[in-house]
Amino acid sequence: MKIPVESYLLAFAGGNLVEQRLGPRTAIITEPELVDKAMSELADLEHALAVEEAYLTAYVWGSYKILLLPPSFPYGGMENPLLTFANSALVSGDKSAFPMFVHELSHSWFGNLVTNENWSNFWLNEGFTVFAERKTDAILYGVDSTKVAAKLGNSSMYMDMVNFGLDSNYTSLHPMLNGNHPDSSISGIPYEKGYQFLFYLESLVGEKNFQTFIQSYVNTFIMKSIDVDDFKDFFINHVRKSFESNKAKEILDQIDWKTWIYGPGLPPVTVDLETKIYKEAVAIAHHYME
Ligand SMILES: [Zn+2]
Repeated sequence: MKIPVESYLLAFAGGNLVEQRLGPRTAIITEPELVDKAMSELADLEHALAVEEAYLTAYVWGSYKILLLPPSFPYGGMENPLLTFANSALVSGDKSAFPMFVHELSHSWFGNLVTNENWSNFWLNEGFTVFAERKTDAILYGVDSTKVAAKLGNSSMYMDMVNFGLDSNYTSLHPMLNGNHPDSSISGIPYEKGYQFLFYLESLVGEKNFQTFIQSYVNTFIMKSIDVDDFKDFFINHVRKSFESNKAKEILDQIDWKTWIYGPGLPPVTVDLETKIYKEAVAIAHHYME
């Protein structure tokens, strides 16, 4: 299969590098000193790929490798197709950063196969990627742990909104760059607000139906660059095809597309991310502080 690659996803690396297989399709590439530690840290990668495929669609790129770079690499990870570039600082020894590797793997579908048409639609890359990442993490670690991650994500999203100003257009899911560098609008907002929007839509149609939606979304827009209207029209048509007309209308009438996409600040709906272990952790923290 020949797959076109977006220009922002092309990268090169050189150094004293060795490759070690993790499974039939997965491998790591790094400096010899880090190989053993990285092999143990990423031992679940092949399984994560299979879990991700089971929720989404077949992995079409062939192999999936992670290149672990020195800690001076300025990002956590960058999802260059076939070969994610990742910061070796993520190899912590306790697998606590594994969700970050699952995130980069999830870009094999969102961003790398279905791509945002421009950076105002960045959440189509990142919101979907976080959604797929947490679906996989829920199977690997349990739903509670993904809800805690989403809660923490919500807190950092709010801080990013405060930093921009709660009425700033950069806090919406459709930032208008007006000639500014796209990096100026990048924050956790497209990741977490985008995730919350998809989580909300899933709550309206049910998990099974939403999985069908997301699979047909990938199959329809594979190797295409799209914007939010493509996504919106596709979702509306999917709901109309899935439910009888009154039920479809009831679902669609609830969605405040304009505020979710173009509105600044917090989402128009507060999604339910509450979970027992989060409350317990907060109670322990309060107890400690007292
Ligand atoms: Zn990402």
